[in-house]
Amino acid sequence: MSASGPRLQPTLFELSKPGRGSGKVPHPPHDALDRLPAEHRRDTPPALPEVNEPEAVRHWVNLSQMNHAVDTGFYPLGSCTMKWNPKVNEWAARQPGFAQLHPLAPDAVAQGTLQLLWELEQILIEISGMRAVTLQPAAGAHGELTGILMVREYHRSRGDANRTDVLVPDSAHGTNPATATMAGLRTISIKAAPNGRTDLEAFRTALGPSTAAVMITNPSTMGLFESEVGELIDAVHAAGALAYMDGANLNAILGRFKPGEAGFDVMHINTHKTFSTPHGGGGPGAGPVAVGETLEPFLPAPRVLREPDGSFRLERAGERPTSIGRMRSFVGSTGVLVRAYAYLRTHGASGLAEITDDAVLAANYLKQRLADSGAYDIPFPGPCKHEFIASATSIKRKTGVRTLDIAKRLLDHGFHAPTVYFPLTVDEAMLIEPTETESIETLDAFADALIAIAAEAETEPEVVKTAPHTAPVRRLDEAGAARNPNLRWRPAAGAWTPCPD
Ligand SMILES: *Cc1c(COP(=O)(O)O)cnc(C)c1O
Repeated sequence: MSASGPRLQPTLFELSKPGRGSGKVPHPPHDALDRLPAEHRRDTPPALPEVNEPEAVRHWVNLSQMNHAVDTGFYPLGSCTMKWNPKVNEWAARQPGFAQLHPLAPDAVAQGTLQLLWELEQILIEISGMRAVTLQPAAGAHGELTGILMVREYHRSRGDANRTDVLVPDSAHGTNPATATMAGLRTISIKAAPNGRTDLEAFRTALGPSTAAVMITNPSTMGLFESEVGELIDAVHAAGALAYMDGANLNAILGRFKPGEAGFDVMHINTHKTFSTPHGGGGPGAGPVAVGETLEPFLPAPRVLREPDGSFRLERAGERPTSIGRMRSFVGSTGVLVRAYAYLRTHGASGLAEITDDAVLAANYLKQRLADSGAYDIPFPGPCKHEFIASATSIKRKTGVRTLDIAKRLLDHGFHAPTVYFPLTVDEAMLIEPTETESIETLDAFADALIAIAAEAETEPEVVKTAPHTAPVRRLDEAGAARNPNLRWRPAAGAWTPCPD
């Protein structure tokens, strides 16, 4: 990608010239408007930019090329599983029977979609080792809220309403404590053991009659499998609390470890991580929640039910009074769920287990290459799951170059940065997740780039500190952009806009 000042284009509104284009066709017939009945014509032109079709297409295509995307390059964002999205999923989601089904269509004309959702639930039940699944939540964080609301309802239903605490390891994703707070509960953060794993004794000490739930990410955001998870869950249950599993890292355990069989009571699944549906850009997601026997009565309504005659229907209002109610409109992000279903069916059970093995192999390969190079600190040496932590602490001490600088310099090498400064418990952290979809050549090229940047930090630290040098923009003022956002376009005088000043 060339250095590209000119590619930082004006907006379509700024490109607009009155009278140009007036739609898709650059040269419409001069009497085009006269052919429309007068009563259907506007008095005032709408506040839309006037550009012709080639200008509009070039604008959007050029803009799309300014982004680093998984379709354009390697994207090793840890904890996010930025894996390749097979294009056949897009084909499936665009089938008119799925894409054009009205969300309020009666069950009789929605049988295909209902069957797909029901079958998807069965597959997720099998993968999670749980008893039942809801597909309603719109993302992982929303799934967490759904799960913890069910936990709260479970304790209330037993007259045990004083359980207000949720125990969370300090390496957890920020959504875990946020979920507890949104559910009206209190987060208690538990420090990890020195080896990066959950400190079983610290959890045992914190568990008590006010504990509602424990939330565990397994493998953890350190990329480590929690080998004492069985003992931990036993202690949680002995204290009368429930065990929640944050399933964001499911890519590391598909077909190899079933959280339900290990004793977890509830977990969410990030379809947009593990099952390849697109994420980023704030679009729709899906965060199905799987539960064991204990929480099944509290699942959100409506559930998708299969009748004895093989037909499908949605639960009727009030049919299951124990439900916590509705978490989202309609039955969930169906388009996203169709993609997840397509992904699961194209791989099958054996393919899914291979995904996990390859994801773990790729992460260990990359970790070992970096460890052998000595270029970065590896705080938790030894085998990892699907992701691992490297740190730039020693580089910072020697050269002043920080993890953020290295992340920016990677863009000049054609790579997206890994997750940086997360988990919060590791200084100058980089959380690297290559996923199973990348070739060994890509992994080697990425390792080479990281090693080259570490060497450059010693010889030419300023080059690293001022990176990126080839991206469309240099360093952005992220705090300023969040605090003083400029999101509002103002139309030319005389034009009609649905959002007047
Ligand atoms: C991504 C993630 C979440 C939140 O999931 P969203 O789908 O982004 O809402 C929760 N926990 C962990 C560990 C994650 O990586």
